[in-house]
Formats: sequence, structure tokens, C-alpha cells
Amino acid sequence: MRRPNVLITGTPGVGKTTLGKELASRAGLSYVNVGDLAKEGQGAVPNLPAVCAAGELYEGFDEEYDCPILDEDRVIDELEDRMSEGGVVLDYHGCDFFPERWFHVVLVLRTENALLYDRLQSRGYTGKKLQDNIQCEIFQTLYEEAVSSYKKEIVHQLPSNTPEDLERNLDQIMQWIEQWMKDNN
Ligand code: ADP
Repeated sequence: MRRPNVLITGTPGVGKTTLGKELASRAGLSYVNVGDLAKEGQGAVPNLPAVCAAGELYEGFDEEYDCPILDEDRVIDELEDRMSEGGVVLDYHGCDFFPERWFHVVLVLRTENALLYDRLQSRGYTGKKLQDNIQCEIFQTLYEEAVSSYKKEIVHQLPSNTPEDLERNLDQIMQWIEQWMKDNN
């Protein structure tokens, strides 16, 4: 039975992990958090910068943004087999480096600034990191990235402000998955 791959993207704090895990559990798909995958890594890799622990799928550390830099090629290699099988919900705050053919639907979650601000603050973000993420949402950076990387017809923005939004999104995506399975099997 063929199953679709779902990309969930958006600014940090919009609710990707919350939606992604619940969706995977309800739909019987597997959930992959790209940030966690990179952190856990696979195997030993030569020539890593000293700041990276062996095995992590990083190629450096961004001092300005205070976060590791993903080794995108290795992340793709790592995921290729699973993605070609289908049935994966992928969660990441970026989307322009994945192969376009991987995804059957791309969901961009959106959150109002004041709510996002509170969520990121309670995650411990302050100063430039907090401001940059709020700006990222204001400028709809991830939505622009998604529509320039995938066919417009498969990219959908979903509001992610309240628990009611979460439930509505889950219902809609479940319906979409059921229809996809009917059409493709
Ligand atoms: P992301 O994976 O995009 O960084 P998370 O799923 O970790 O975001 O969610 C960030 C915070 O926002 C968490 O505290 C989560 O409980 C909360 N949250 C997520 N989705 C919603 C929603 N639809 N309504 C209210 N709070 C939410």
C-alpha cells in the first residue's frame, strides 16, 4: 500500500512537532524530526569541525544565530531510503534543500506574532534569536521558501494559534491522506 509523505514546515515555535507527532500517530505514519535526526547522527564522519560531535549531521556552528549548521547532503542521504518508501511525516524549519519529489503535500504552519513571541520566550529564546524568529514569521520566510521550492498546488498554509486550530488541521490532513490513499492504491 502506497502512503504519502507530508512535510511540515514553518518558523520555530509554530507547532510543527506537536502537529507532526499527533498526525503520524493518528494516520499510522512515521514521524521524523530533522533537527533531532541531525543531532543523533549516524556513523563516524571524517574532517568534522571540532565543535561537532562525531556522527552528528552538522558541518559547523553558526555563532551569530547560535545554532548548528546542518550538513544537508548527508541529511538527504540518511533519509533517502525511508522517503522513497513513503509514509513519513517530516518536521523541519527549512524546506528548500529537500528533493522536490519527496513530498506529496507541504504544510506551512502560521502563528500570530504575540503568541509566537510567548512560545519562544518560554522556550528560553531571548534577544537577537527571539527577534530573528519573530521576523522570520512576519516576513513569511518559510511560506516563500515553500512556494519557491514546491509546486504551489501542494503547498498549504495552516493557522496554528489555538488547540482548536490543531484539531481542525488534524481533521483536514487526515481527510486529505484518506483521499490520497484511495487515489493512489
Ligand atoms: P515547533 O516544532 O514548530 O518548534 P512545537 O510543536 O514545539 O513547535 O510547539 C511550540 C509550543 O507551542 C509548544 O509549547 C506547544 O505546546 C505549543 N503549541 C503548538 N501548537 C499549538 C496550537 N495549535 N495551539 C496552542 N499551542 C500550541
